[in-house]
Amino acid sequence: MNRLIIIKYGELTTKKGNIKFFIKTLKKNIERELSDLDFTIEYDNGRMFIFSEDLETIENRLKYIFGIHEIIKGYEYDSIDIEDIKENLRKLVENIEIDTFKVCTKRSYKGYPMTSMEISKVLGGVVLKNVPSSKVDVHEPKLVIDVEVRLNKSYIYFESTPGLHGYPVGVQGKGMLMLSGGIDSPVAGFLAMKRGVRIEGIYFESPPHTSEAAKEKVKNLTKILSNYSGYVKLHVINFTEIQEAIYKNIPHEYLITIMRRMMYRITERIAHKNNAKIIVNGESIGQVASQTLTSMAAINEVVKIPVVRPVACLDKLEIIEISKKIGTYETSILPYEDCCTIFVPDHPVINPELNKCQEYESLIDFENLIKEAIRSEEVLTITKTEKKFEDLL
Ligand code: ATP
Ligand code: MG
Repeated sequence: MNRLIIIKYGELTTKKGNIKFFIKTLKKNIERELSDLDFTIEYDNGRMFIFSEDLETIENRLKYIFGIHEIIKGYEYDSIDIEDIKENLRKLVENIEIDTFKVCTKRSYKGYPMTSMEISKVLGGVVLKNVPSSKVDVHEPKLVIDVEVRLNKSYIYFESTPGLHGYPVGVQGKGMLMLSGGIDSPVAGFLAMKRGVRIEGIYFESPPHTSEAAKEKVKNLTKILSNYSGYVKLHVINFTEIQEAIYKNIPHEYLITIMRRMMYRITERIAHKNNAKIIVNGESIGQVASQTLTSMAAINEVVKIPVVRPVACLDKLEIIEISKKIGTYETSILPYEDCCTIFVPDHPVINPELNKCQEYESLIDFENLIKEAIRSEEVLTITKTEKKFEDLL
């Protein structure tokens, strides 16, 4: 008997036009995640099969890979004799609790002396006889036992774990994630990755107003995000001079608006340089003064690149719930200052006017400051931490 894992990638199979590219990317992502282990991978018809001596480790890692719908434990046997299949199934079920179940048989060897229905019926009988708590439910069973009979091998697929769903990271190209140390932006990054976007982070620091510890926190958040994509590049931009210039020259109620316009401009340029097609950030409608619709419009006005806001329509509590599930929450709530929190005015404007933004910005030579900030760029490639799986999405 050989043990194996079967991977189902449900959502992918609906994308007819791109299916080859999707599967190739998923396979590449899986191979990268398992590169330190011994395994072989085969694929056929909407599923992948992984053979290895270390299936526990592999199963645990697969739970972090987007594009996987279901991870199923499988057993491969050299006999297709019905008596052997019955005995093999009996051994698998004899010591476990089963509530409702059904057996589904696929018979790719058409010369087999029994039909699929007949095999399912006989094997259902084996479960009922050996597991007293079990009941057949063909409509909504809690456990599906898949059986497959091929020319000279038989398979039993048993016990599935949900995967992360979504699309394999990379199939949608790149997005530049504005990553602060807060709760929202790592969640935004996770959700964008779930749609197949490879994320690169951009973090604006303002030393000495922001500390090395605050930067460390952002690096740690990046590390957690890289659990879901193998690695994440982080671009660190020195924002001090811009921030000080804004603080000195601009009416304070417009500090945040202008500061964010500067961040957007820089992020767009870094995105273009790195071939990222969109900006992703953690803005959520109405959460703070800079996230009213009028503010968002005034800030968004300075860039042409699309800005995707995955958490725009979520409540803070919903965002927190996701951050706990994906493992970023505990790091996000550590109390290090962000460059925005240091320069927060008492009364930020809630409905900023575009002409005022433009007028204030004309007071300062921002173009040179922006170029200077971009020259300060430090690029780090951050790879994943040790795996720890908690009930993921
Ligand atoms: P978060 O919890 O992600 O920090 P927030 O609720 O604190 O978000 P803001 O500080 O207003 O909201 O920032 C909104 C978004 O702008 C953030 O989610 C993030 O995408 C981006 N952002 C804010 N500060 C920075 C920074 N220093 N570097 C990079 N991006 C930032
Ligand atoms: Mg923040």
